[in-house]
Amino acid sequence: MKYKFLPFIAFSLFWIANLSGQTFTPESVPNTKIQNNSYISDPSNLLDEETYNQINNQLTFLEDSVGNQVALVMLPSIGEAIPKDFAYKLFNLWGIGKSGSDNGLLILFVLDQKRVEFETGNGLESILPDAICKRIITNELIPSFKNEAYGEGLLKGINAISSIIQNPKNAIEYEEKENKGEGGFFLELYGYLTAFVNGIILLLLGRSFKKDETPYNKYHTLKKYNITPLAFIFPIPFLGILWFVRKEMKKWRNTPPQEPHGVQLSKEQENRSNNYLNSGQSKEAELGVAEYDVWVGEGVEPTILRYVKSPKSYTKCPSCKFQTEKLAHSTTLRAATYSNTGEELLRYSCLHCGNQREKINIIPKKVRSSSGGSGGGRSGGGSWGGGRSSGGGAGGSW
Ligand SMILES: [Zn+2]
Repeated sequence: MKYKFLPFIAFSLFWIANLSGQTFTPESVPNTKIQNNSYISDPSNLLDEETYNQINNQLTFLEDSVGNQVALVMLPSIGEAIPKDFAYKLFNLWGIGKSGSDNGLLILFVLDQKRVEFETGNGLESILPDAICKRIITNELIPSFKNEAYGEGLLKGINAISSIIQNPKNAIEYEEKENKGEGGFFLELYGYLTAFVNGIILLLLGRSFKKDETPYNKYHTLKKYNITPLAFIFPIPFLGILWFVRKEMKKWRNTPPQEPHGVQLSKEQENRSNNYLNSGQSKEAELGVAEYDVWVGEGVEPTILRYVKSPKSYTKCPSCKFQTEKLAHSTTLRAATYSNTGEELLRYSCLHCGNQREKINIIPKKVRSSSGGSGGGRSGGGSWGGGRSSGGGAGGSW
């Protein structure tokens, strides 16, 4: 009787010994970004080679194109450690994401605990809020993980993440896609809550209209409430408001402007409206800076209304006053150093009237990355950017 537990203890010891080679701590996870510039640390080869390469290429492309660092860590075991704590420690140990913008993401996969964690950097949380992380885990990763198709699930999840990081508007589409699929209580509650909060906000919105406002001004009042970023950070209730605001904007844009003599105006087809535009307006339309709606009626001058589309890509030309000026060339006059600002000469040129102008711009001082690895030539190794996480993200079990 005395030795009743002996086999059990022996087995436990064997178990622990067997696992000890495969149990990782944040400090013992191979930092493959430094070692061979890989975004995936998979010391026990849980991924097959093809999937590994596919994911690594995608993550390389993601950093090259938009500057976000995403690390994937595949571990057989972290012992008794809590995956969330482990992910948080590892994230900040490595410094994933750019220092300052903190735009990193760590995906931690723990096989024996059947657990996956997304740990987001402080700066990524606005684009990839916890709720979206949770949805991606639940909808893309877990179903495949249940069939032990780990590579497949990760590929699907990383695709969803990439598309949202590259274009945050895709988060809305993702939400909508998911909402259609989900039924039941949550959706119902979501509906009621949205309707209720929207009701209050729309009441306030309605009051922001002055009585004799033109449809054009109403459109632009609403435009201020076109709160796309808020809609995916807080889908309740802003997604509903966004939908309403867009619907109303469309309505007012298609409402004929009032003509003083009571003449009924109708909107010209887009291809024909170009005939009414002057050369500067045509250029703006051609460059995609603005859209012009032309309203025509019997015996009255056409009404031309301007709707700004993408104001950022072109600047306003000081000569012809149209937003058709583009940065044509920049020359560094004096490079910025760690101790001094630099100067660059910017040359703008107007694509409408051809006006040229030059401007001297101050280049901010260089900032040293908080983690090393930037000096010297690249010898196969890369580096993380020194990003921080304060615990954002989500996890899921299968
Ligand atoms: Zn010009």
